Amino acid sequence: MATVLHGQCGGMQSPRILTPRSPAVETSVVAVRGLRKSYGGRVVVDDLDLDVALGEVVALIGANGAGKTTTVECLQGLRHPDAGTVRVLGLDPVKDANRLRPQIGSQLQDSALPDRLRVAEAVRLFSSRRARDGEELLERFGLGPRRGSPFAGLSGGERQRLFLVLALLNQPRLVILDELTQGLDPAARREVWSSVAQLRDAGTTVLLVTHELDEAEVLCERVVAMRSGGILDAGTPAELVARHGGWAKLQFGADLDGEELASLLRLPGVFEVGSAAGQVTVHGERMMIAHVGAWLVPRGPVPADLRVDVPDLEAALLTLLDGSTPARSPEPSPTALIGASA
Ligand code: ATP
Repeated sequence: MATVLHGQCGGMQSPRILTPRSPAVETSVVAVRGLRKSYGGRVVVDDLDLDVALGEVVALIGANGAGKTTTVECLQGLRHPDAGTVRVLGLDPVKDANRLRPQIGSQLQDSALPDRLRVAEAVRLFSSRRARDGEELLERFGLGPRRGSPFAGLSGGERQRLFLVLALLNQPRLVILDELTQGLDPAARREVWSSVAQLRDAGTTVLLVTHELDEAEVLCERVVAMRSGGILDAGTPAELVARHGGWAKLQFGADLDGEELASLLRLPGVFEVGSAAGQVTVHGERMMIAHVGAWLVPRGPVPADLRVDVPDLEAALLTLLDGSTPARSPEPSPTALIGASA
């Protein structure tokens, strides 16, 4: 017989839509309000608010066509908004383009260089008067030994790292990276990630456009999820996991009686307890894992098959971007319910 117990707080809260509206003025690098952009009468960015504060690494994430590139193009003055206000480093990207451009370092989605241009030549070509030491940057991003190679001879990962070097060369105050790792193999992606992590750790402000969920999880302090030209939700990975990740799950083999199952259900953070075929399954908030562990320890050997399943950012973003309900209880239909108030 299968048993499922539900606790008092078993319902997931509806997701709160948090649009980051008000960082302190002096730390604001990007401040967008009500941005609207259409192409040929089709609205592709609609009433979008976005903030990036000094030193933040923020991911704009969403499926193809969500409006991410259009948004960052508006930030760089490459597109003219139809409505709304856009301020980057306190400047209007269209009206103040000449003052703003030198302060932004960007790698655009389809960046390319002439095939025969050598790495060191590209660095010289892109250096402005305020450029930092290009040689030092090449070394830092592992391109020192490739300084004499033509662009066409670089691997995909090396090309992207060269674009990172070029984006950083002129000491930008904001770095915009649009699908930096698209098309790279897993090893090259990790190399590029580690370069971006270096920027993050050095306090560089980065806006990263991606539709790779794991990339956002590894690199970003805050994630803005977009669909159909608007923001679905925004927050730190932990906040998004809490809002959209669904329940944590803990499973172990044990024959527990009704009283023992009920006592598990009373533990903090436990929403549901199920028992079927000698397997106990507990669903709840992440912190219930500690309480169930503490409950198990005095009862004898900890079950060898104890398994923990904690939702991550990838699970949360999949739920959010698909518009589906977070995974809660994947158990078969219960044959018995006790204390069912979930
Ligand atoms: P992807 O992940 O595929 O790069 P995205 O989220 O960056 O997508 P955008 O590139 O901003 O999305 O595109 C948003 C929508 O606007 C898409 O439907 C796209 O086809 C359309 N679009 C983009 N640029 C233009 C353009 N110059 N003219 C007409 N439509 C455009």
